[in-house]
Amino acid sequence: MVKNNENLTPAPKSRFLKVKCVDCDNEPVVFGSASTHVKCVVCGRALVEPKGGRAKILAPILEVLE
Ligand SMILES: [Zn+2]
Repeated sequence: MVKNNENLTPAPKSRFLKVKCVDCDNEPVVFGSASTHVKCVVCGRALVEPKGGRAKILAPILEVLE
């Protein structure tokens, strides 16, 4: 009896994303797996919102930082 039906899903790496605020051209670095709302510090536009345990990035991603 071999039990081999467990999916080995690696934990998502913690990544920082450089995004661009489309409203004010600010380029903040946000945490890619944030589970809280992240707003642009300049204009207050929502950049990241939690969705089903994952972060949904609402701004264009310029760069992924390891
Ligand atoms: Zn902004």
